[in-house]
Amino acid sequence: MSEVVEGKAWVKDFLEKRKIEFKFVEHESVKKPVDSARVRNVALKQIAKALVYMVDGKPLLAILPGDRQIDESKLLKVVDAKRIRFAEPAEVKQHTGCQVGLVPPLIPEIRKVVDRSLLENKEVSFNAGIATAGIIIDLNDLLRIFDHSSKADISSGKTMIGLECHVQLNTKSKLFCGCKTQEKEPNSACCPICLGHPGSKPVLNATALDYAMKVALALNCEINQEFFFSRKTYFYPDMSKNFQITQYEIPIGEKGHIILSNGKKVRITRVHLEEDPAALVHSEGMGSSNFCLVDYNRSGIPLVEIVTDPDMQTPEEARDFLDQLTTILSYLKVYSPTTGVLKADCNASVYGNNRVEVKNVSGKKGVEKALTFEIARQKHVLLEGKKIEMETRAFDEAKGTTRSTRSKETEADYGYIFEPDLTAFRLTKSEIEEMKNKLPELHGAKSKRFMEEFGLDQYNANVLSANFALGNIFEHVAKDIEPKIAANFLTRELMAVVNRSELDLDSLELDPEEISSMLSLRSSGKITEKVAKDAIIVYLTKGVKPTKFIESQGLVMDLGKGEIEKAVEKVMAENKAAVVDLKRGKQKSLNFLVGQVMRLTRAKANPKDVQNIILKKIKGE
Ligand SMILES: [Zn+2]
Repeated sequence: MSEVVEGKAWVKDFLEKRKIEFKFVEHESVKKPVDSARVRNVALKQIAKALVYMVDGKPLLAILPGDRQIDESKLLKVVDAKRIRFAEPAEVKQHTGCQVGLVPPLIPEIRKVVDRSLLENKEVSFNAGIATAGIIIDLNDLLRIFDHSSKADISSGKTMIGLECHVQLNTKSKLFCGCKTQEKEPNSACCPICLGHPGSKPVLNATALDYAMKVALALNCEINQEFFFSRKTYFYPDMSKNFQITQYEIPIGEKGHIILSNGKKVRITRVHLEEDPAALVHSEGMGSSNFCLVDYNRSGIPLVEIVTDPDMQTPEEARDFLDQLTTILSYLKVYSPTTGVLKADCNASVYGNNRVEVKNVSGKKGVEKALTFEIARQKHVLLEGKKIEMETRAFDEAKGTTRSTRSKETEADYGYIFEPDLTAFRLTKSEIEEMKNKLPELHGAKSKRFMEEFGLDQYNANVLSANFALGNIFEHVAKDIEPKIAANFLTRELMAVVNRSELDLDSLELDPEEISSMLSLRSSGKITEKVAKDAIIVYLTKGVKPTKFIESQGLVMDLGKGEIEKAVEKVMAENKAAVVDLKRGKQKSLNFLVGQVMRLTRAKANPKDVQNIILKKIKGE
């Protein structure tokens, strides 16, 4: 047989052991030079997917020939999508030298990737050009393999995850100077203080302190009655004064917690306030740029850092933690999801081994992805009998992988000293108590209120209150229409679109008035359920306002009763046979007559009204 088989003896061995029927195949284009004209005619769905998946520490290569219809989303779901991803065309090119869909993969090249992956303990997967060679295997068998391996590998053993979240507070000015926080033009919002010129003195932004206190209180922290700021010394171009003003010895708050949606309690170690360093801009991307630009607009932006205990066990829990956190932040109105930055250093360890820190991961999805990769990587290192080094790694968002950057500094390396230019802050117990009382209603309380005030069930109340914007829309809409109907529509139809299209509700800035008007039309029967659903899809995905969509498409069924009656009379006069059939109890005739009226009125009549009028007339005659 060809090298496909020889090179994949372990695949053969693996599949035979599991009594899985398979066949190695190769396409003629493996042996013959590529016929470019033919290749150009290949349809997109005929492009094969090659998956390299780690099974029992070894990569299993499965090339799914392009002529098999495979439901990719279903496949990804069953094979534990978080461990598999289809590679971007650029990655395929990088690994195989192949242009996806244009050139067939060179099989030895694929093998090279597999071997290298084994060497590096990486999980990789990629599109492999058009169907050329691979294994034919029953889809169910394939899923069985993946399912089995996923359970054996991922679910056993304890994983510990802790997060250090950095959240940008949405103050108008910076933490220690009056520079604006939202300037776009690079280096247009800086002054001697945020650039660290000699002799410049920081002055604490009272709003930032107020926001950070609110965060600490909302996260159930104990507030320290006295706290101060410290200098964390390090050299890097993003920190022009060579130290960052932060809090170290005594933070604003300690010993808080967040409850995850599965009921688990994640302890908050501390909450403190610090300044953001400048932004380093690599115009061609990290590692490919010949130079690096520094934008000091970000230098001195207030950040609140929220550090957790290592209480989370899965990347999903970490994601849920961030969801809960951003919900609280949006209720407090201290963070803007559209312009604010949310970053996290993710600490992960498996089976009590060394802890690895993945630094500076952006966004909730990024955190989940980075942790998924990192945990799998650590498990494979252990499977190989190697040791996990305590280190700092960086997350490559495009590839979904992490790479080693430097050994982790210890706290001693930073040489913390008390910041002499800022005074210590003292609060009395009653001042803290007063702040606590001033906290706005948070999502737990709002959920309870929705149940009491509007008679919602717990599920709807929880979903609606979990997002500040959604809760607002609901309260607005519930003024105009029956609250339960509004709640059902929002939690089911609207959230289905949000989840399916992976939208961020907070950044959509939906107009509650629009949704209310649309749902009022639905409640009064002037639009169908389908139109309501379509309108919301178009609104969320394309930004077209529902009322405009419905009006421009002529979807309102606003024909008056008199006009409907006229149309019914006309249709009944013209279809006497159907009327006779209906009188004899033939249900199909009713549908037919309704259809005729709808056609005559160009769907401007409500079909239910039409039906009632027809039935009335039949009885009356
Ligand atoms: Zn400044």
